[in-house]
Amino acid sequence: MSKNGKNEIGTNTRLAHAGYAPRDFFGFVNPPVVHASTVLFPDAATMSKRDQKYTYGTRGTPTTDALASAMDELEGSAGTIIVPSGLAAVTVPLLAFLSSGDHVLIVDSVYNPTRRFADTMLARFGVEVQYYDPHIGAGISDLMKPNTRVVFTESPGSNTFEMQDIPAIAEAAHAGGAVVMMDNTWATPVYFRPLDFGVDVTIHAATKYPAGHSDVLLGTVSANEKCWSQLHETFLTLGTCAAPDDVYQVLRGLRTMGVRLERHQESALEIARWLEAQDSVAQVLHPGLESHPGHAIWKRDFSGASGIFSFVLKGGGEREAHAFLDGLEIFGLGYSWGGYESLAVNVFLGDRTIAKGDYAGPVIRLQIGLEDVEDLKADIARGLIATAR
Ligand SMILES: *Cc1c(COP(=O)(O)O)cnc(C)c1O
Repeated sequence: MSKNGKNEIGTNTRLAHAGYAPRDFFGFVNPPVVHASTVLFPDAATMSKRDQKYTYGTRGTPTTDALASAMDELEGSAGTIIVPSGLAAVTVPLLAFLSSGDHVLIVDSVYNPTRRFADTMLARFGVEVQYYDPHIGAGISDLMKPNTRVVFTESPGSNTFEMQDIPAIAEAAHAGGAVVMMDNTWATPVYFRPLDFGVDVTIHAATKYPAGHSDVLLGTVSANEKCWSQLHETFLTLGTCAAPDDVYQVLRGLRTMGVRLERHQESALEIARWLEAQDSVAQVLHPGLESHPGHAIWKRDFSGASGIFSFVLKGGGEREAHAFLDGLEIFGLGYSWGGYESLAVNVFLGDRTIAKGDYAGPVIRLQIGLEDVEDLKADIARGLIATAR
């Protein structure tokens, strides 16, 4: 259920059935995977008017429709586009709503490749890019300019997990006439529904929990009624359609995402609490912990937490961070997250200008997978012993 109780059926029921009615395809429980460029028309008149539901592979198929409408049910959106990666799910909406001479406000704790896109391509196209403090809340109204077209949010922030006051930011941004976007990859629509809190466009790296197995790249962007047609037009213009097998894999992943997330959440919180009690750990950056500065906002707006968070070693530098990572046997060293397996990364914050934090030591990000939690704790303990050597 969304926090405001707007849904009449539960989230897991929705995840199991959303987007596809088996009777529409001979009763088969899952939709067909349609591989298509060409779609045939019955006659010249229909062809000249393109007067049928499907007209060309780039513009949608029954397979992409199944996932898009599942996402619409989950996000409460008017429409969803499906793109080939989570990064494309960030860049396509920014291209849809920004023009030369516009100003965009982006949270400083944003996913780093979003920053790279803004600092290179958006800047080259004449968009003025400005970063803001993730804790700014309603204070963002002081940064709004007459040409501010987009306010880009991500909560919690990438790698350091700062919580943003989304309703306050959305209200101030709308008062200034801007479109509010949110990268909602961390919570998924199971634990946060941005459109219910004033966001206009919600973004997912479906690569993460929706896919769930570290073997697919995909992105989704869902918009409210106000923003849907402009988003959809841009998607068609750019031709950033996704491959049908990948779309199918993500729809398949959605069916089990609720139970997977419950386990990710439970194990991650248990490990986060356990880490807080370890002598060699200075701080644990998980918004579900009472000690987290954004805990009150998380509790107010979110209905759960996923399985990725960070912790700060007590002192040390790269040598200690590398010793920790090299001491791990079960956790893999790799980027991305949301799969069934645990991962660890040494966080790099060098590009930030505001949300640099004042951390006592290296920041290590952990993606907690579906392994037995006692085994994961023992593995982290091995890593912590290695840092002390
Ligand atoms: C991973 C990630 C992305 C990009 O997803 P890819 O499919 O890897 O391109 C975007 N936003 C956030 C917050 C992410 O964690």
